[in-house]
Amino acid sequence: MNKVMVIGSFLILLAGCAKPPENPNILDDQATAAGDQGSSYGGDCAGMTGTAPVIDTEDRDQWGTAGLDLEAMDRRFEAGDDFFCFVNGAWYVNFLMPEDKTRYGSFTLLADKSEARVKKIIEELATRAPDPDTLEGKVAAFYSAYLDSDGIDKRGLAPAQSYLQQIQQIKNRTDLAEAFGTLGFASPLGGWVDIDSKDTENYIFYITQSGLGLPDRDIYLSDDGENKATRAGYLKYLTVLLAAADYAEPAVVAARVLALETDIARAHWDRAVGRNRNLTYNKITLDKLLELGAGFPMEPMLQKLQLAEQAEFVVRELNPNSAKIAELGLDEDQVEKISGGGVSGILSLMVSADLADWQAYLTAHFLSDHAAVLPKAIDHASFEFYAKQLRGQEQQRPRWKRAVSAVESSLGEAVGSIYAARYFPPENKRAMDALVKNLRLAMADNLDELAWMSDATKVAARDKLKKFTPKMGYAEKFATYESLTVGSHAFENTMAANRWAYDDMIGQLGQPIDRTEWFMLPQTVNAYYSPNRNEIVFPAAILQPPFFNIAADPAINYGAIGAVIGHELGHGFDDQGSKSDGDGVLRNWWSDADRQAFEDKTDALVGQYDAFCPLDGGDTCINGRLGLGENSGDLGGLSMALKAYKMSLDGNGDGRISADEQAPVIGGYTGEQRFFMAWAQAWRSKYREQALRQQLIRGPHSPPYYRVNGVVRNFDEWYEAFDVDAESALYLPPSERIRIW
Ligand SMILES: [Zn+2]
Repeated sequence: MNKVMVIGSFLILLAGCAKPPENPNILDDQATAAGDQGSSYGGDCAGMTGTAPVIDTEDRDQWGTAGLDLEAMDRRFEAGDDFFCFVNGAWYVNFLMPEDKTRYGSFTLLADKSEARVKKIIEELATRAPDPDTLEGKVAAFYSAYLDSDGIDKRGLAPAQSYLQQIQQIKNRTDLAEAFGTLGFASPLGGWVDIDSKDTENYIFYITQSGLGLPDRDIYLSDDGENKATRAGYLKYLTVLLAAADYAEPAVVAARVLALETDIARAHWDRAVGRNRNLTYNKITLDKLLELGAGFPMEPMLQKLQLAEQAEFVVRELNPNSAKIAELGLDEDQVEKISGGGVSGILSLMVSADLADWQAYLTAHFLSDHAAVLPKAIDHASFEFYAKQLRGQEQQRPRWKRAVSAVESSLGEAVGSIYAARYFPPENKRAMDALVKNLRLAMADNLDELAWMSDATKVAARDKLKKFTPKMGYAEKFATYESLTVGSHAFENTMAANRWAYDDMIGQLGQPIDRTEWFMLPQTVNAYYSPNRNEIVFPAAILQPPFFNIAADPAINYGAIGAVIGHELGHGFDDQGSKSDGDGVLRNWWSDADRQAFEDKTDALVGQYDAFCPLDGGDTCINGRLGLGENSGDLGGLSMALKAYKMSLDGNGDGRISADEQAPVIGGYTGEQRFFMAWAQAWRSKYREQALRQQLIRGPHSPPYYRVNGVVRNFDEWYEAFDVDAESALYLPPSERIRIW
């Protein structure tokens, strides 16, 4: 279970780096996923039997001289019918899903490798028996306390008692407000500190809707798919939690908690509409925020959260007035989807809902949010619902793996500094810098050629491209956790670490912007683009095969990590990222005509993805609108990377690839073929059906099968490279192929 989902209190913690940047355009949802077997969504390339993954923490090359896993291919598939299965089919059929996973792919493979390496680092630290006041000592103590599940079990609910008592003693709305502001308690409002999107020299506190125990509001509100069964499972889970907290009629009270959460869900905005950054940027004064409370005493909550002195806030889900609706061009359907009230709807629930129901809600969520460091019965109930029922995970992950994750969440930068020094050699950094340079040139070239964009807008776009900051490998500095005390009890350690992370984050308010800050650890297999900072960030752990292979030829590296970097760069120009300029400021630098032309293109892309319906006999589909930023990022990224790849071949720089500059044929495949195959290989992946369902509901990333097949069919070069014609299943007539960047 990951932190973002579990910690429902006012802050949204993300790993050890304390908070997500606003609109963190992360590359993949892997962090929220754990494993997968059953589902077949890729036609015949689906299969159930085979071998489990082998995790190799040393860098013995598994990718051959071609940089491609040729044994993973299934040549019975025509590339033009199913490119994913053509490249990955044999792997797909032969791969045996580990029981503690709900999906598996290149990300997981590298994440497992990272996990094993981090374990090694921690155990080495521990064997040296370091002084508990040193950083090494804190890591070792945190890890071993977390591992001690028998010790945790023996203490029962004793460590949680003072928190549960505080909840029981709530007598009025002021007490309730204090509870919502207390770290460790759930709250239907969340928030974090980040750069102010319109004033990028200052930090500000963002407030957002939160507080649901189920992953999406629609699960509460619609009976589609498995939603009813999911709610029934959740009700059962709440009942177990409330029984553990000694409620006399836990089932009755659980039903009331579910009803309360359903009301919260009604107030929530729809996820896809809520992606609109102009709609969610609502800066208001403290007085205005207090007014929104309409009878709910917000001061004690803000006081507790160290926010009472803040002059301004950004409230993401603030009801737009008619002028704003007109300005943003929202249609009736979109307005309907955000009509629940957002933050003010939630605040009025804080006033109107029964105190007893809020108490039960806080109690159940407190136990659920800290299940991993509470007695086994609670931990097990959490697994049964969140992992097994929701995602189809068959077995709990071994305790050591969870302990590694917990160290990563709480003291990740302590491990990160060692990881970076050990596993990210300087030559990798140099190679990456060269790749990024070519990608930037390619993007500049692509911009010049765009027929749909006006010259004035191109000037601003080029300026934005010039100001991009790439960060590769690891941060310049790492947290030292000096004020964090770690002892021998997992529960107390977790609470202390959350406190440390929150204080660290809040301490940024009023300070100059820290441009060196990273929101991911070097050992994290992922990447992101931050529009407020106009930067792309690639941790060391993703800069490995099959994404980046220093031994492979350029086709592989451009097709995999090159396109992934292009994807992140593309976020700077996608439907939301393009709303920030080169300095990260949220402002319109497009002409209306350009914006319209861009939206016509992206609408067509929404249509292509809406038509991919992998579940329930074609009834459950990708939400093309929700995934738009990601899908256009993939399309733009691959296009940039292809261009950069060609530039890398053009040794004499005359703008064409002469005969002696052609890429060699390696492993039987041409340079362009390997380029596209590297993309498909990087996204090889398998899901359990439940995990796939959650991914479709929550988005925004399309399942990897479609990140491959949905993208390549828009490239003329792919048709040429693999002789794809109108008879092929993936064929699109040239007029329907979309090229945005
Ligand atoms: Zn992305």
